[in-house]
Amino acid sequence: MTSVRAKIVILGGGFAGLRALYRLRALGDRADIVLVDPRTTSLARPALPEVAFSGKPVEHARFPLERPVTRSGARFINRGVERIDANEQRVVFDNGETIRYDYLFVGLGAKKDYDAIGGFREFGYSICDDSEAPRLAAALAQFKGGPVVVGTAKSVWGTRVDAPMLAAPCEGPVAEIMFMVGHDLRLRGLHKSSAIRVFSPGDIFFEDVGTRVHADVGALIAREGIEVTTGKVLSHLEAGAVVFEDGDRWESALSIVLPPYRGNDVIVRSKGLGDEQGFVPTDATMRHLDFERIVAAGDATALSMPKLGHIAVMQADIASATLIRDVSGEGEIPEFRPEVFCIANRGGEQATLIYSNDFFGGPIDLTMSGAIAHMMKWGFDEYYFHTAGHLPPDLATEGLELVLRELRN
Ligand SMILES: Cc1cc2nc3c(=O)[nH]c(=O)nc-3n(C[C@H](O)[C@H](O)[C@H](O)COP(=O)(O)OP(=O)(O)OC[C@H]3O[C@@H](n4cnc5c(N)ncnc54)[C@H](O)[C@@H]3O)c2cc1C
Repeated sequence: MTSVRAKIVILGGGFAGLRALYRLRALGDRADIVLVDPRTTSLARPALPEVAFSGKPVEHARFPLERPVTRSGARFINRGVERIDANEQRVVFDNGETIRYDYLFVGLGAKKDYDAIGGFREFGYSICDDSEAPRLAAALAQFKGGPVVVGTAKSVWGTRVDAPMLAAPCEGPVAEIMFMVGHDLRLRGLHKSSAIRVFSPGDIFFEDVGTRVHADVGALIAREGIEVTTGKVLSHLEAGAVVFEDGDRWESALSIVLPPYRGNDVIVRSKGLGDEQGFVPTDATMRHLDFERIVAAGDATALSMPKLGHIAVMQADIASATLIRDVSGEGEIPEFRPEVFCIANRGGEQATLIYSNDFFGGPIDLTMSGAIAHMMKWGFDEYYFHTAGHLPPDLATEGLELVLRELRN
């Protein structure tokens, strides 16, 4: 417990960092909070498929960071972090300056390693960033038809924590891409000349959900005539082709690939902080296994599996509660109970909500498809955008709980 104002530094203003910022306001004048990010905007990645496929302006997938940070009584530092010196409790910026912390919250996200895919820069497209999604939108506008290949490159994880070793960080975006590109091609009369083939590096497509979700999503995939092949590990991209490690070569006029995820470079450069792949190893209270003044949440952590905004927020709540307890001695730390919750747009007014903890031994494994799911996704994204990273209030989440309870029965 600290008697003077604790200095808390939050690294990253994404899902995890902003959630922590808003949660840590509960400390009031017991803490001075600083949030650091080299971007001036926070990027809502779940809005990027609509940027690529539905004409959403990319400005609508990001919002300025400084104002919500200062309005929360915190200070914003618009700089990149070079490394963390955990023994000295210091953050080193990319200009060599440093800042000390009493407590550090790491919400740096994962590195999307496009350059690990040979030929990506020349022949590939993706959707994970606000540079890639508009680039894909521009390519689609020029697309005249031909085979479309969509899939995820294999990621490799460290071994310090006991988390599932998924071959793909999260295949929700792949589902969104296949359905939304199909819808776009149909609208433009290109679908007959543009078969969509999907590959997954895992033995099962959508490894992290149960049989009921597999059956429901599988039926939608079959209805669209999309072919999904599992166990395909991407080797590289060529002009007109996607090449796999087993030597297969799929013809492709448009190759859309999710890159492998790696630990953030900051963690890789920081001695003793990351696991073998640069992800932050934590216990279930989101405290670093070796440095008690450091907590982490979201894609940067080894425990976030799959890599989902929903899990980033859940972990940020836990990590914030851990810090609040350290600083004030008050409050309970919620239990980490991973689950998959996401809504995948399918083009037009259609979407599929997926809610499942079956993979983690729980009883829930359900989907809800249709216009209501689409409205829920729209409502969530708009709320997040217009409130600068807040999640819908309890009333909305209680309404959602009611719908989900009905679906479960
Ligand atoms: C296309 C797509 C669609 C998705 N759809 C969904 C969905 O529908 N539902 C869902 O739950 N999840 C979805 N996800 C996953 C979700 O976006 C991520 O899990 C989530 O963004 C993770 O949040 P984060 O805060 O951990 O990391 P990020 O959102 O990546 O934020 C990390 C922050 O750290 C900052 N940072 C990075 N390096 C430095 C540095 N050196 N110094 C300081 N700051 C730094 C970054 O600028 C960034 O602001 C989707 C992902 C993609 C790619």
